[in-house]
Amino acid sequence: MTLAAGSGVVGLAWLLGRAQLAEPLGAVVTAMPLVIGGLAALLAARFQRSRLVGAAALVVVVAWLLQRGDGDLAPSQMTVLLFLVPPGYAALSLAGDHPLFSRHGLSQLLPALLAGAAGLLLARNLVPPGLVRAFSPVQLGWGLVLAAMIIALFSYVFRRGVVDAAFLPALAAVALGLGQLHAGRAAVTALAAAQMVFLVAGAEEAYRLAFHDELTGLPGRRALEDALRGLRGTFAVAMVDIDHFKRFNDRYGHDAGDQVLRMVARELARVPAGGRSFRYGGEEFVVLYPGLDRDRAVTATEALREAIARRRFHLRGPGRPRRKPRNPRPAGSGPAVGISVSAGVAAATAKRCHPQDVLLAADAALYRAKKKGRNRVETR
Ligand code: GH3
Ligand code: MG
Ligand code: MG
Repeated sequence: MTLAAGSGVVGLAWLLGRAQLAEPLGAVVTAMPLVIGGLAALLAARFQRSRLVGAAALVVVVAWLLQRGDGDLAPSQMTVLLFLVPPGYAALSLAGDHPLFSRHGLSQLLPALLAGAAGLLLARNLVPPGLVRAFSPVQLGWGLVLAAMIIALFSYVFRRGVVDAAFLPALAAVALGLGQLHAGRAAVTALAAAQMVFLVAGAEEAYRLAFHDELTGLPGRRALEDALRGLRGTFAVAMVDIDHFKRFNDRYGHDAGDQVLRMVARELARVPAGGRSFRYGGEEFVVLYPGLDRDRAVTATEALREAIARRRFHLRGPGRPRRKPRNPRPAGSGPAVGISVSAGVAAATAKRCHPQDVLLAADAALYRAKKKGRNRVETR
């Protein structure tokens, strides 16, 4: 979502930059990267996403230097920014997120501070010309932009986080801005677009934190309540519960229990027939089947139950190294344990059409499945 919205924002900034809109739009436009960046940084700091704060601060610095230069930057300033900003983004895209007021969090403001200091020193002619010449040719700077974009792309492909998705489109917008630093408004628009991308990422991250379960990655209870409200007509609900999970926790420990929750969630996420899985709480999950009648929902849930029962869960031993060793032990060297789930399925009927009532019926069916011996699907 961030990637799509970010690309849209950057495309719009590019078009706006090309359009010959009446100049000047004045103080409001000039302030945009600062205001939007400030909002993005505030939101990100609230959710302890220090990378977003550092990235927004870096754009604020570029916009501020541009403002100081009255919409035009000395070529030397621009060249130095080209050399400082992309590596700053590359480093931030690879880093982790921390609380802002921690050693790691504050260190992520370093790219912005460096760029600000360099820009100021250059504006006051305090940098020896020989050193400035070392930052040429400009093509090398653009090479760095390209390299930073490739790094940001890899970071996204491997991590797939909401914040990771922001760096590539934001970097494209910043590159657009850096390329037009002599052209006041177009550059400001591009920098504002980069800040918009960070703001969207902050909002998306806030949404993810509120609606997604951190342990399993599945949508959580709040998302389920929303989805239930949207169900109409034909639909079915399955309530799924891991069997004897307390016993499992007692025997193998809470961490191993967490691994099992993640593995079960991964299986449930592959739900067929257009269903959607949620973590209801604890070791209970709910699968919604919009458009499915009872029999088809039972078939889909039966497939999920079977897939989970077939799997052997290889638990990571406590001595498992954090990094992959050069000569790893063969897979399955940890204890292999079987896990099963029980499920109750209920569908909407003429008498029972309210989603909450169908959920209650599914819960009652689950109770029956437990009573009948577990590792089975019951319906109602
Ligand atoms: P049944 O087959 O009847 O469902 O038995 P059960 O042991 O699965 O059910 P019970 O409700 O007695 O126990 C549920 C256990 O789930 C208790 C709790 O410690 C564990 N649990 C709940 N949430 C988590 C979690 O996030 N992580 C871990 N590791 N365990 C959890
Ligand atoms: Mg339970
Ligand atoms: Mg249970």
